[in-house]
Amino acid sequence: MDIISSRILGHDHVLIYDNTTIHRKRRDDALSARKMPKYPTAPNNRMFGVDIPLLDAIGQPAYNTRGKIQRTRIRMGDARFANGLPQPLYYPLGHPRAGVFKGMLEILAERGYERDMLHALRAECHSFKCSPKFERANPCCCRRLLLNEPDFATVLSILEEECAARGFRVIFLPKFHCELNLIEQCWGRAKAIYHDFPASACEDVLEQNATRALAGITLLNIRR
Ligand SMILES: [Zn+2]
Repeated sequence: MDIISSRILGHDHVLIYDNTTIHRKRRDDALSARKMPKYPTAPNNRMFGVDIPLLDAIGQPAYNTRGKIQRTRIRMGDARFANGLPQPLYYPLGHPRAGVFKGMLEILAERGYERDMLHALRAECHSFKCSPKFERANPCCCRRLLLNEPDFATVLSILEEECAARGFRVIFLPKFHCELNLIEQCWGRAKAIYHDFPASACEDVLEQNATRALAGITLLNIRR
């Protein structure tokens, strides 16, 4: 993207990726209503947030004495009102519950939904199997209602955020699709070249063969 931004000016750019987990990865603190409680976190309970791996001084995951990756809990990022203003999910400084997670009811109430309706509404349908027909005026549960709010329904991946910031469009293709993904044509060509090399048990030779196979991909192969 840096190369495109600095060297290919005056064009509209469309970047194409396959639909893999890494390309769809969201920020650690990205909005998600999936595990939110309906009410604020109780005083003695652990604060609602997102559990992420704890990193050591050199940025690597830290392990405990049993060999498990240690995790730490961070706050979920702000939501966004319909007018574009941020909506903090935790009570602000100066509030009697400063720093406490608000809960779905309060988050929805701040968006203008009736508190009485929200109190009467269950937190989540059984096993989160809601009716397929969602009606905002007559919702089945708080979680489904919140998930259908525009900011919760359209959370971008890190990649999409980066592209949007640079003015690039992004298209995701079915992953590993051999005809749609250009890179699959390249891998296919590289494998065909590699296949023609004599078999070897020497690691250096295999590495050299792999490098030569990748170098054998032409621009025509990519565009085909
Ligand atoms: Zn529901």
